[in-house]
Amino acid sequence: MDMATVSKGIRHPVRYLPSIQRVLMARLPWRWLRTPLEVGIVPTRRCNLSCEMCPVNQQSLFSEELKLDEYGRLFRELSTFRPNPKVLFWGGEPFLRKDMVEILSLAKKYHLPVSVYTNGLLLNEKMIEGMIAEEILNDIYFSVDGTEEVCDQIRGKKGLYKKIIENVGIICKYKESYEKSIPDIFFACTISSRNLGVLNPLAESANRLGVRTHYIYLSFLPEKMWQRHLNMMSKYDLEDLNADLQHSHHNPEKFLENNGIFTKIDWEQLEECKVKLPLSVEDTKRYFSGSGCPLRRTCRSPWLEATVMPNGDITPCNGFIYYRAGNLRDKSFRDIWFGEKFNRFRTVLSKEKSFPICPICCKAYGYK
Ligand code: SF4
Ligand code: SF4
Repeated sequence: MDMATVSKGIRHPVRYLPSIQRVLMARLPWRWLRTPLEVGIVPTRRCNLSCEMCPVNQQSLFSEELKLDEYGRLFRELSTFRPNPKVLFWGGEPFLRKDMVEILSLAKKYHLPVSVYTNGLLLNEKMIEGMIAEEILNDIYFSVDGTEEVCDQIRGKKGLYKKIIENVGIICKYKESYEKSIPDIFFACTISSRNLGVLNPLAESANRLGVRTHYIYLSFLPEKMWQRHLNMMSKYDLEDLNADLQHSHHNPEKFLENNGIFTKIDWEQLEECKVKLPLSVEDTKRYFSGSGCPLRRTCRSPWLEATVMPNGDITPCNGFIYYRAGNLRDKSFRDIWFGEKFNRFRTVLSKEKSFPICPICCKAYGYK
């Protein structure tokens, strides 16, 4: 928990009590508690952008999407856990769903703290005003990878950065006029060789706007690492989708070659970066050399989190979404969370300590 959250917690103790509870519980003997503290929800894998580093538009695996009433049942069930888990929506672009605001509003109706990741293109003033007036969102994360030119270039959309800054202005305006303290606004910045040189000015812009920045590293999967992972998954019978798993990841080698992830990194830019990044300079170098970040402990995610895919599949692993512990159309969330398949995943991870792809997964450096 950072200092900004702590100080908000002091000023708004009731609102931030669940966040504080979740942070404290994540430090308790979490393997035995088995309470979901965060549930990732992917309402759609469709996206209105096609950033070249992202495989979502190449995947046809999750073309089916849960309906509003199915989300209602899920949120009602999640509201029976203590503390109420946070629900974190990502995608694809969540707002491509015409009923997205209703889905978010339904989660709030069941008192679940709500966060959403968006590229911001589909938001408009009326939607934003409504969500602020109703206090639907606790946090909103805009995907911003750099200053205007770099951000638009990486995301392949001219005018995207300006649109996001405009959205930030609208959110601030309505927070003030409705006297609301939420949503907290974040830039979600993916670090790669392309934006190391603009992290300082991006942080300065974020400071000026009163926005916090959440950094992750561009995730890329070297072929050998992927093969070792698939071998381990099949050894323990942990791959469950009848899908061409190889196809479901974009061609990593070609992407790396085209974008110079290994070869075009300006290490001086990294040394000059004043921003506090999740990994040290040495570990960042190691990450971009293709070996991933050093693993200091076993990932806690499968004991504290789950992810709901668009078709209702629930997976315990953010990095390997092709393992299905169950589907919400067949079973309740609680049955899946405490069920045999979810537990098998936890048991194998405990035994192996880590999986081959863990070093390139944001969950490996996300918990401090
Ligand atoms: S905006 Fe996000 S989900 Fe959409 S293509 Fe880009 S990285 Fe992928
Ligand atoms: S760190 Fe490993 S176990 Fe944890 S979510 Fe990522 S891939 Fe899965």
